[in-house]
Amino acid sequence: MSEHNPDLDGPPDGPDEDVEVKPVVAVVGRPNVGKSSLVNRIIGRREAVVEDVPGVTRDRVAYDAAWQSREFTLVDTGGWETGVSGLAEMVAHQAEYAARAADAVLFVVDATVGSTEADEAVARVLRRAGKPVVLAANKVDGELQEPDALALWNLGMGEPFPVSALHGRGTGDMLDAVTGALPEGPPEREEEPEDAPRRIALVGRPNVGKSSLLNRIAGEDRVVVDAKAGTTRDSVDEVVELGGRPWTFVDTAGIRRRFRALQGADYYATVRTTTALERSEVAVVLMDVSEPLAEQDIRVVEQVVEAGRALVLAFNKWDTLDEERRYYLEKEIDRQLSRVSWAPRVNISARTGRHTERLVPALETSLAGWDTRIPTGRLNSWLKELVAATPPPVRGGKQPKILFATQAGARPPHFVLFTTGFLEDNYRRFIERRLREEFGFDGSPIKLTMRIRE
Ligand code: GDP
Repeated sequence: MSEHNPDLDGPPDGPDEDVEVKPVVAVVGRPNVGKSSLVNRIIGRREAVVEDVPGVTRDRVAYDAAWQSREFTLVDTGGWETGVSGLAEMVAHQAEYAARAADAVLFVVDATVGSTEADEAVARVLRRAGKPVVLAANKVDGELQEPDALALWNLGMGEPFPVSALHGRGTGDMLDAVTGALPEGPPEREEEPEDAPRRIALVGRPNVGKSSLLNRIAGEDRVVVDAKAGTTRDSVDEVVELGGRPWTFVDTAGIRRRFRALQGADYYATVRTTTALERSEVAVVLMDVSEPLAEQDIRVVEQVVEAGRALVLAFNKWDTLDEERRYYLEKEIDRQLSRVSWAPRVNISARTGRHTERLVPALETSLAGWDTRIPTGRLNSWLKELVAATPPPVRGGKQPKILFATQAGARPPHFVLFTTGFLEDNYRRFIERRLREEFGFDGSPIKLTMRIRE
């Protein structure tokens, strides 16, 4: 569809430094100091124990973690390939990426061995990077090893925290120091009360049958509720029972009134769509199959994607369809709506009532996609395999690395890729496609942005 409706791609999801993500803690250190054990100790049962998909490797890079209700993303840099040889070089490289991408660094050293050449290389990198560093002196399993930890003052990274990843000893004090070094995270998201009816915007250009459909499914039993006090009288919502549960259709006054006789009805329709979308969670875009799909239909779909709302495509006036028109309709859909091929489609007739009950499962599918949150561990084990199989294309002689990713939010799902360079549009679209293949998100737009640490 891109050649016909490039706009439907929405604004390019490029670098985005503004989106709020949880603070990132990177765990660095040479192999065998106990990084993975410490990571497992920190995330506890949150993600480690869960076997997501049998057969999928559990070689992960990043995890959801929390300490004393401070949430953060924990990154195990031991899983990063740096492409350099030599232990000290490799570990120093990992530390360098880590320090750039993270808000704080947890530097793990084996206290029973003491500082080695590789540890000192890491320390040099971290001192230059200027990010807060917490030094974990691991394998201090008892009081006897405490003096070993003190010897690590010589790394010049401040106070060593004696810990035992194996037994959990000392990890509380260490985590206090880690979370103390973190910036404020994003504010807790306000979740809707569980039982609130979900909000639907019924949109589409004039005459596609919006008011007919509303009358058909809401009938006269509808409950009219005024929107929040202070909003205009136009924004009236109706609570309608469908499939055994209540749904809120937002701003139905604009549908029920007869506007199309008025001049500027198209303009009004666009404005109404905008306000209805703002107040909704999912949009049903109604189209009229008795006529060719119009530019205005596509524009409404675009508006929904840009507003980041869940989407259901409803093809109305199906009762008018004959063989020939149906043939052309399929072609129009293929050509003009392929960019939203992830959206559920229902073919209905507001006049006869045909298949209108199918709206409910379609709405539920789209909202489920819209609500989806992927655990960071699962996301990153998947991403690691994807990137290993198909690395980002070289750009300006350099191969951008994808270090890890987090889901910054849901509704709609928004992913942030932490990278060492710009990822081409094509590659980002490839990732989006594969994300959909792996995790679904049917009926929901998804956002993909980059955080570049060159
Ligand atoms: P709105 O502007 O989107 O609210 O459209 P209306 O509901 O006012 O419908 C526009 C016209 O299409 C009216 O003449 C309706 O009777 C007709 N219409 C609506 N739905 C259907 C349908 O499913 N089949 C047929 N044949 N006509 C329909």
